[in-house]
Amino acid sequence: MDPHPFVTGNKMVGIDLRSDTVTLPSTEMRLAMANAVVGDDVYKEDPTVNQLEATVAALAGKEAGLFLSSGTQGNLISMIVHCRPGQVVICGNKSHVFLYEAAGMSAIGGLMPCALPVQQNGTLDLTDIEKAINKTDDDHYAHTALIVLENTQNRLGGVPLSVDYINQVGALAKKQNIKLHIDGARIFNAAAALGVPLSELVSAADSVSICLSKGLGAPVGSVLVGTKEFIHEAKRKRKMLGGGMRQAGILAAAGLVALTNRNRMHEDHKNAQILAQGLSAFPEIKIIACNTNILFFELNDSCPMKKDEFVAKLKDLGIQVGGFDKTIRAVTHLDITESMVRDVVQKIGSILSIKQ
Ligand SMILES: *Cc1c(COP(=O)(O)O)cnc(C)c1O
Repeated sequence: MDPHPFVTGNKMVGIDLRSDTVTLPSTEMRLAMANAVVGDDVYKEDPTVNQLEATVAALAGKEAGLFLSSGTQGNLISMIVHCRPGQVVICGNKSHVFLYEAAGMSAIGGLMPCALPVQQNGTLDLTDIEKAINKTDDDHYAHTALIVLENTQNRLGGVPLSVDYINQVGALAKKQNIKLHIDGARIFNAAAALGVPLSELVSAADSVSICLSKGLGAPVGSVLVGTKEFIHEAKRKRKMLGGGMRQAGILAAAGLVALTNRNRMHEDHKNAQILAQGLSAFPEIKIIACNTNILFFELNDSCPMKKDEFVAKLKDLGIQVGGFDKTIRAVTHLDITESMVRDVVQKIGSILSIKQ
């Protein structure tokens, strides 16, 4: 017997590997949402939001947290708190803040990105960063105020940045008296892959934005963490951006359940590897990158099928993938099982063999 027929929810149709954002809230999560104790969060009176913020802050080893609508909002708020209009943000040329946030830093923050080349291992070269930082008094130049790192680095196939590297960037930032923000949309994937606690991984960062709606499986939400002072100002900026929420504990309750999924990230990583290994057996396929839960692959020039046709054929078989240019992206997540990825390998095999 189902005691709560109105919260049973729905299941993924087919096998959706487009992104780890496509996860659907579980029945347990929907029940937690339905039963959440709530209050008005603009008055800081929502106990569930307060609990979520304190929990994420503690996991990250930071003083305070702020519940937000999205990772994009978290990155934007952190940039406008750390910087003043007319200043420069150092980021990667393949980073989410540079490519996929509708230029919010410029349009809303009055900030100029200085986009450095992202290396194959997902890092920004330390010498490049050092050279790019401008703190001189020459009034021709805008001052650098912030470095943004992305962990894991999405466009490089979910590659995690190490504690050692982040600490080096943090030391560099400190020496120059500028701030370090981490876009940690998938920071729990990085922590799991590196086998380090989150607090150690982000100890050099002044702020971190953490998505609850990627592999963790919440329907909505991110948490921004930092010092009490930073979060106090971040709350004002959130209000300014129209992001003050009321009985948001309904959503935060989902976030608290989502956090329990952080300990199963290695399953997604294992499934991504199984997929990569399975596909690498096909001569038509070239594996480009497979780190954590993101696989990039391409069809070889020798393959008579082009990407669009291949993706459409997969879709006919109930399998959805993403991608850009020639690259196909498959992301494993909470709703993807090992038997599903084995099924995907087998079905891709059948598509490729039809064509020969
Ligand atoms: C998804 C993502 C974000 C934030 O996206 P939202 O959809 O706004 O939550 C930020 N950075 C990276 C690397 C991402 O993948």
